[in-house]
Amino acid sequence: MSSSKREHAVNAVADLRARPPMPAAAASLEHYAEDVFSEAAIRRFLSKETAVKLLATISGEAPFDPEIADEVAQAMKEWAVSRGATHFTHWFQPLNGGTAEKHDAFIEPAGKGQVIMEFSGKKLIVGEPDASSFPSGGLRSTFEARGYTAWDPTSPAFIKRHANGATLCVPSIFCSYTGEVLDKKTPVLRSQQALAHAVQRLMRCFGLPDEHVHITLGIEQEYFLIDKKFYLQRPDLIQAGRTLFGAPPAKHQQLEDHYFGSIKPRILAFMEEVENELWKLGIPAKTRHNETAPAQFELAPIFEDQNLAIDHNMLIMEVLRQVSERNGLVCLLHEKPFAGINGSGKHNNWGLSYGTKNLLDPGETPQENAIFLTLLTAIIRAVDIHSDLLRAATATADNDHRLGSHEAPPAIISIFLGEQLTEVLDRIGSGVAVGNRKPAKMRLGVDSIPVLPRDTTDRNRTSPFAFTGNKFEFRAPGSSQSCAEVNLVLNTIVAESLDYFADRLEPLVGVKDFNKKLQELCHESLVKHRRIIFNGDNYGKEWLEEAARRGLPNLASTLPAIDNFRKETTKSLFQKYGVLSNTEIDSRYEVFHEVYHRKIRIEGEIGLEIARSMIGPAAEQQFGRLAAALANAKACGLKAGTAGLKAKAQKIGNGIDQLSKANNSLAAALHDGPEKIIDALRALRAIIDALELDVDDDLWPLPKYREMLFIY
Ligand code: ADP
Ligand code: MG
Repeated sequence: MSSSKREHAVNAVADLRARPPMPAAAASLEHYAEDVFSEAAIRRFLSKETAVKLLATISGEAPFDPEIADEVAQAMKEWAVSRGATHFTHWFQPLNGGTAEKHDAFIEPAGKGQVIMEFSGKKLIVGEPDASSFPSGGLRSTFEARGYTAWDPTSPAFIKRHANGATLCVPSIFCSYTGEVLDKKTPVLRSQQALAHAVQRLMRCFGLPDEHVHITLGIEQEYFLIDKKFYLQRPDLIQAGRTLFGAPPAKHQQLEDHYFGSIKPRILAFMEEVENELWKLGIPAKTRHNETAPAQFELAPIFEDQNLAIDHNMLIMEVLRQVSERNGLVCLLHEKPFAGINGSGKHNNWGLSYGTKNLLDPGETPQENAIFLTLLTAIIRAVDIHSDLLRAATATADNDHRLGSHEAPPAIISIFLGEQLTEVLDRIGSGVAVGNRKPAKMRLGVDSIPVLPRDTTDRNRTSPFAFTGNKFEFRAPGSSQSCAEVNLVLNTIVAESLDYFADRLEPLVGVKDFNKKLQELCHESLVKHRRIIFNGDNYGKEWLEEAARRGLPNLASTLPAIDNFRKETTKSLFQKYGVLSNTEIDSRYEVFHEVYHRKIRIEGEIGLEIARSMIGPAAEQQFGRLAAALANAKACGLKAGTAGLKAKAQKIGNGIDQLSKANNSLAAALHDGPEKIIDALRALRAIIDALELDVDDDLWPLPKYREMLFIY
């Protein structure tokens, strides 16, 4: 009987809790980056001359010199073999949003039935996986399945460990035979180039010499952990990544007792094991804490170069999944695994530095202030003009459940700057001097506590795009998404906006009233784009109305949102900056579109199966119990209890009828579009969630929210 399965699961978790967690290796600095072909490894395994050349390529100062390919490959192999690797793979990020790898052993025939370990420059640089099964949006039909992977030297090679071995992973891009992009990484790299050029151009207007532009990124990752024993009894979690049914538990997050709460030993042991793995991979995992919802947590590394941070986030998701498995847990990265409580996002902290100077730091001197305010104005312009693209980049079937449900920023993109900064901007060009604004000091009125410098911005957790002191935090991306899409959009739209300013400032270079003209230019732009700034509560209904008055787009679901990718203005923007060609855009749109439809369909199908094969039988059994009890009562001539039994049987009976109807509607909807499926599934859920509260606990086949979210 199903009850025994749930009961067993609960008891097994309870047993587990009675034992102290397995001592897992805690992260240690001694092993930091030991599985990365790091600068130290490069210097150790390569000749001095070659090392210098490779390091210059890695830091973006020089293109890759093909002459050194063989030596680098040889050194990489020696390093990897010394660390236990027998295989290598190009590690890339196809359009399905995950990562891909195809392993090859280093072995080559050496005659007489012997083999030797070899790795050539050619193999390091290009790979040719059979690409027929990766989504390409029509760019490549299966009969010409050729796809090429090519080494990205700017992201260091690393070693992945498995139970019985290790594999050298070479971060790579992925393209078709005709050179069209089939992955997430290539357009990010292209957009970085575009942005770097635009930044340098603008800095020249301020008389600054060329410096290296660093686009920095820190990604906060939210996730849920539940015990695997519950997970395995939830076909919806296994197939769709989220619970399609489940009545809200009496207690969930109302008491706000989980957020930043003390971390349970089993979870802390898990986190430590994760950090150990990440540190070995040179991923600077720094912050860990309980998140808002029960069983929800967050991990954040220290920010890094954008390309590396995106790669590292893909690895973080993988390590979270793997380590959870080892601990009898399952890491749910879905944006909304449980209805009615907070979902998970991925905060994309985006920064820009020029040489060693953070350009988004307001700075101390008038010139630093001027550069900062120009950049800020340009970013405001970029986000206002292209908010639809930022929205599109976060649009997925899964994230649709999260955006705009009072826990995550709404689907309306706006910028939070804080009162102080907004005031400064409002005064630009209005004749009032801006001057240096030193951050105000804040006194707490407790003598033992030192005076704290006040952040130039207060915290606003509700804004999708918030300025947080020296970086912008984009909070709309979903927890399972790759950050590539969002960042290629951000880089490109900011590049375009910086060029807009450079176009107007270049003729003014050396002119006496450069600063006055600059202020006028900023003022003019701010007047036009100020509507995107909103410092209030983005979750409130008032904002929806206000945003509509301001004419800001509110695209609540994926399909209208991703349509923005196909607009002519989008195409010409990406074309102009060489980030995506028209065919590449079309193909990506196709992929997103298809994935959306397929996901919704999978949810519909698994939902229907659960309803028919698990919930229906439980309700029928319940009905049978009640009917039998009634018959027995009658046979014994009992009156007492029959009214209650009858009412209950009536209610369950109605539920069974409604269920059968809703199942048929869902079955019919599966032949229609996604909207119909979503509606039918929602109606079915309401019936099932009501039944959950009426059916005997021992008959209910699915682990309940109160179990999954609290027993671990
Ligand atoms: P919070 O939860 O308050 O938003 P966290 O410390 O969890 O803050 O995360 C902030 C993230 O922003 C971290 O990954 C941090 O390294 C990153 N960050 C800090 N400065 C920059 C910067 N200049 N550029 C990009 N990311 C940054
Ligand atoms: Mg944050």
